[in-house]
Amino acid sequence: MALSVKKPKGTADVVPSKSYMWHTVEKITSETAQQFGFKEIRVPTFEDTGLFVRSVGETTDVVQKEMYTVTATGDSQFTLRPEGTAGVMRAMLENGVVNEGFPQKVYYILSCFRHENVQAGRLREFHQFGCEMVGTASPRADAEVIALAKTVLDRVGLRNIELNINSIGCPECRAKYHQALKEYFSARKDELCHTCQERLEKNPMRLLDCKSPEDQAIAKDAPLILDYLCDDCKAHFEKLKEYLTEMGIQFTVNPRIVRGLDYYTRTVFEFITTEIGAQGTVCGGGRYDGLIGELGGAQTPALGFGMGLERLLLVMQKQECDFIEDKKCDLYIATMGEAAVRKALSLTTALRDEGFFVEYDLVERGIKPQMKYADKIGARFVIVLGDNEIESGSAKLKNMATGEQKDITLGEGFIDAFTQEMVNEMFSGLEDELGGIVGKDGV
Ligand code: ATP
Ligand code: MG
Repeated sequence: MALSVKKPKGTADVVPSKSYMWHTVEKITSETAQQFGFKEIRVPTFEDTGLFVRSVGETTDVVQKEMYTVTATGDSQFTLRPEGTAGVMRAMLENGVVNEGFPQKVYYILSCFRHENVQAGRLREFHQFGCEMVGTASPRADAEVIALAKTVLDRVGLRNIELNINSIGCPECRAKYHQALKEYFSARKDELCHTCQERLEKNPMRLLDCKSPEDQAIAKDAPLILDYLCDDCKAHFEKLKEYLTEMGIQFTVNPRIVRGLDYYTRTVFEFITTEIGAQGTVCGGGRYDGLIGELGGAQTPALGFGMGLERLLLVMQKQECDFIEDKKCDLYIATMGEAAVRKALSLTTALRDEGFFVEYDLVERGIKPQMKYADKIGARFVIVLGDNEIESGSAKLKNMATGEQKDITLGEGFIDAFTQEMVNEMFSGLEDELGGIVGKDGV
């Protein structure tokens, strides 16, 4: 049967058998952020359109071409968030979090929406793990935020990820640099794409981030921001490099990174892999010392990053990283007849209260299909309850891995006896593992 409605282009479903992959990255990212002292923040999926226009920047690709904007009946214009930072800063200001002592450190896992050309690693709804630190201009903070991203990438098991860093200066050095860029690009204005011709006056740095191959070729020989940094920005960048080196974090200075959002100042960075094609930036971030002031707060330095979780998962799968698998069912209770069902219900309730993962037949099937189902869900143990078992107060407990069967009471001692069996099973699993290790070392 052909489905009459399908998912929108550029979106993805996560089917139940694959959700453990997302749980793995959600667990590792949030636990690592918490270990660095970051607390979770949650914000709305849509915001006033003006928030993104002001913060991401009018001349960026995101604002010019990629935003999903809706007008509700009435007046306001809303936009589905294309990124996390703007809404998070808005929320921190609106809730007074920025007045609660510095630094404030927050993290989030959220969906973002951009109307892009869909490709592998480039979706229209995607997810970011992001971290933001507010209230510190110190290069230590830059190193700390980069270290957090790096720790996450290490902990999910990624290899061959390269850290590129750059400084794009403060408004003061940027003014001189803009002048130099304008002069450089003006000489070849006619060869630039239409959008870039328009951007040339307002925001010439955007030309460096243009995706058109012709413009990229022209931008290759453009002046480099690092040659225009003021003394303070230079010193900040030098300190950052020193701290990264001290932390044992390898990096490459790449003077061509400018990032796609306008709010960045000084440090920008990207973690890049070459293993998933052109969309290799797994994580991007930097400092945005002017953003909070721009949104109406007191001038407050801040910085952060966004990590694309779909891209992260693509690389993890490509590199065969380990995932934390879903827990398996401890006990499946197969039943024949109403008396057995009643017993199964009371046993299940008691076992679940003790923390065990228990299932029983909900489809009213025969024993054979129930056993098949228990096998399919990977149940560790199965008991079969019928009239005989209810009458005798005892049943066979089958270990599904070994096929071994044992009598188990269905009375008072049931929970203790089952707990003991689970402990034995865990130990035998451990012994197997240890035996394997001992065997490998030849001890
Ligand atoms: P790109 O240069 O790849 O377009 P960007 O500069 O637009 O990236 P950011 O706005 O900095 O990206 O977002 C941070 C991260 O979010 C990116 O490094 C990437 O991992 C992820 N990301 C951005 N856009 C998408 C998308 N359309 N689909 C999937 N992931 C994305
Ligand atoms: Mg982009």
